[in-house]
Amino acid sequence: MPSVLGPYEGPSLIGTAQRVNSASVEFWDAGVIVVEPDAPAGKDVVFSCAVHGDETAPIEMVRDMLHDILAGQLTVKQRTLFLIANPAAIVNGTRFVDMNMNRLFSGAHANGNSPEHARAAKIEQYVGRFFKQQQRFHYDLHTAIRDSAHEKFAVYPFTHGAPYKKQQLTFLAECGVDTILLNQAPTTTFSYFSVREHQADAFTVELGKVRPFGQNDMSRFAKADTMFRKLIATETLQLPEFDASRHHIYDVCRTINRTAQNFELNFPDDVANFTEFDTGFVLARDGETPYRVERSGERIIFPNAQVAIGQRALLTVIPLPVEQLELV
Ligand SMILES: [Zn+2]
Repeated sequence: MPSVLGPYEGPSLIGTAQRVNSASVEFWDAGVIVVEPDAPAGKDVVFSCAVHGDETAPIEMVRDMLHDILAGQLTVKQRTLFLIANPAAIVNGTRFVDMNMNRLFSGAHANGNSPEHARAAKIEQYVGRFFKQQQRFHYDLHTAIRDSAHEKFAVYPFTHGAPYKKQQLTFLAECGVDTILLNQAPTTTFSYFSVREHQADAFTVELGKVRPFGQNDMSRFAKADTMFRKLIATETLQLPEFDASRHHIYDVCRTINRTAQNFELNFPDDVANFTEFDTGFVLARDGETPYRVERSGERIIFPNAQVAIGQRALLTVIPLPVEQLELV
C-alpha cells in the first residue's frame, strides 16, 4: 500500500539540518522540525498544528515562523519543536483521513491501524525525544468548527490536583486567549499527553473559526503570533502581573455521548460555542433519552451530532470564579 505521506517522501529535507543564526534547524520527519540553539536558554517549547488537517490558520502561523527562522529573520533562543501533526489530512483538506487524531494520544494509538494511529505513535516518540530540559511548554494550536461566544479559548488539561499556573494564564491572555476551559479528567488529547507524560505546561488552544487556506484574517491572530515569537526569541519572557479580572474560567459540567443511531441536537448547526440555554431546555436526544439543561449558567461547547456512536457529541460547561482556583 502506498504511504499516505507519499507526496512528502520524494527528494526532501528529512534527516537533514541547516545552520542559521547560531542554531541548527533539524528536519526529523515530514512536519517535524526542531530548532536547536547553540546556547539554549532553558525552555523546551512545542508548537503543534494540524492535529486537525483543515484548521488552517495555525498551520499558516507555524509556516510563517519557520520561514522567518530559515530566512534568518527570527532568531531562536529556546529549543523549539514545530510539529505539523497530520500532513495527509492537510493534503486531503479534511479534519482527518480516518480518525480524529486528538483522541489517539497517551497510547490510544495502539488500538487501531489508521494513518492517524500510526502518526500519533510517531509523534509521541518525537515529543519524547525532544523534551530534555526542565521548563517544558506545549501549545497545540487549533481553530474551531463553529463560532464562539469567546472567540479564543484554551483547554487546560487535567492537572491531577496540581495548582493552575498564573504565568500560563497570563501568557495565554497576552495571546488574546482570555477564556480557559478546565478539563477534570484524563483524556487522549495531545495536550494532556504532554502534561501527563512529560510534565509540560500544555494547552489545546482554540484561536478562532476555521477558514480555507489564504482566507484567514491573520490580524485576528496577531497577538498570539507576537507572543509565540517572543517566547522562543527571548531568554527571559517579561509578562505583566497576574490579573484575575482578565480571565473567564469554565469548568466542564457534563459530557454527552452519542450512544444511539438516532441522535439529534435540539439547536441549529450555527449556534456558537459557549451559548447559554435556559434551565430545562432539551439540548439533545440520544434515542429515547432527552438531555436537559440542569444548572443555571450551563453552556454548550463542541457540539457535533455526526460523531461515531460511543463518542462525545456535546460538552456542557459552567462558569467558575477565578478566585475558586488553586493558583501558583
Ligand atoms: Zn481542532
